[in-house]
Amino acid sequence: MLLRHTPDKVVERTALTINPAKTCQPVGAMYAALGVSKCLPHSHGSQGCCAYHRSALTRHYKEPVMATTSSFTEGASVFGGQANILEAITNIFALYDPEVVAVHTTCLSEVIGDDLSQIINKAVAEGKIPAGKRVVYASTPSFKGSHVTGYSNMVTSLVQNFSENSGKKISQVNIIPSFVEPSDMAEIKHIASEMGVKFVMFPDTTGILNGPMDGKFRMYPKGGATIASIKSAGDSIKTIALGRTGAMAAAKLLDTKCKVPCEILDLPVGVGGTDEYVDLLRKTYGAAVPESLLLERGQLVDVMTDMNQYVSGKRVSLVGDPDTLVGVARFCAENDMKVLHVVSGTAPGPKFERRIRELCGESVVVKTGAQADMFYFHQLLKGERPDLILGNTYCKYIARDMDIPLIRIGFPIYDRVGHSYFPITGYRGGLRLLEKVLDTFMDRQDRDAAEESFELVM
Ligand code: SF4
Repeated sequence: MLLRHTPDKVVERTALTINPAKTCQPVGAMYAALGVSKCLPHSHGSQGCCAYHRSALTRHYKEPVMATTSSFTEGASVFGGQANILEAITNIFALYDPEVVAVHTTCLSEVIGDDLSQIINKAVAEGKIPAGKRVVYASTPSFKGSHVTGYSNMVTSLVQNFSENSGKKISQVNIIPSFVEPSDMAEIKHIASEMGVKFVMFPDTTGILNGPMDGKFRMYPKGGATIASIKSAGDSIKTIALGRTGAMAAAKLLDTKCKVPCEILDLPVGVGGTDEYVDLLRKTYGAAVPESLLLERGQLVDVMTDMNQYVSGKRVSLVGDPDTLVGVARFCAENDMKVLHVVSGTAPGPKFERRIRELCGESVVVKTGAQADMFYFHQLLKGERPDLILGNTYCKYIARDMDIPLIRIGFPIYDRVGHSYFPITGYRGGLRLLEKVLDTFMDRQDRDAAEESFELVM
């Protein structure tokens, strides 16, 4: 009911965020660290931050998320958290025996100005880190950026700390996905595997945040990129970054640090984006496109063709993370849907807006950054009503208020399951997304049909 009072008239704000369309950097850093084999994320800040980050991931994935915290209290807030994290490192290796501890900072430790590099060196000097184990960190101040920035910062830190150029090239391709579901990471790997491409993908949360129930608790679920593979990424022939905002920085660092050239692609959602990914793998690795992928592609194209009349001309509004938005906007455009609004709480820079306009035309309204919040998104929708919203769980209030159907994509999704098991990337993901769009429109059509137009066959 409260949302009924959101005014139609959009007033541009400069200093106030109302219901942000993003979450904070450490959530992404924690997610990226979980995609490394036997890696324990560590939150350098108060217990409350860590509890929030873990619960955000747990509620989205319906899986337990392991992470430790420096547990700042008033003393650490004043004098810094060095003593806390040094004690934490000792306890973590004694109790949980990880291969790697991936530390991310929080607002508080950033404001205090804790020097993690110096603190980790001190831990090494004092023998607190067992032989063969590592502690790495990423700076993730949450008063700027978003969970996507935090993800990118942690992936970049993995390259900084582990990737090495040994001087001997390995015939393999690096694949760095943006902040996407474990199901999407699996799909991205499936395509490369079908083509016979040898690859290193990191991070890789497949099996970690969508693992099976087998009655056993595992502190470190099976899966994740190994440190050896991330190290070898420095010898690969190329890096493919899937998503500019979440994956480009790490790919570029592999280029400057290890002389591995990189290419940045859109997140492969739908036919066009997936074709580009397949084609780049083909050209880079000299791999042929197998019948199995042609079949997947052909099925997607078949449904797109058969059912185009139900989606063509439909008006959609998108809110979420930049790389997902680019992929989904591309999917909408190739299915002849008209994208009205694209809103992201992350600020991905001018290239994002240019890309969205290339895909959707000049009329699309693009708004990014801290004031691109759910309140603003609601106002845009009140000004120009779409037929469909694509966005995360928080859109449900707007969808209900305005009686507009919602398809949940992106992060977080707290009130549905399926996203961690079924992808939206690749040809198979495109088919699933199209099915969801078609089901949504047809359900609406059935709900609103007069008695005489209520059809058995669509
Ligand atoms: S925004 Fe800052 S204070 Fe709040 S949970 Fe995130 S890191 Fe902690």
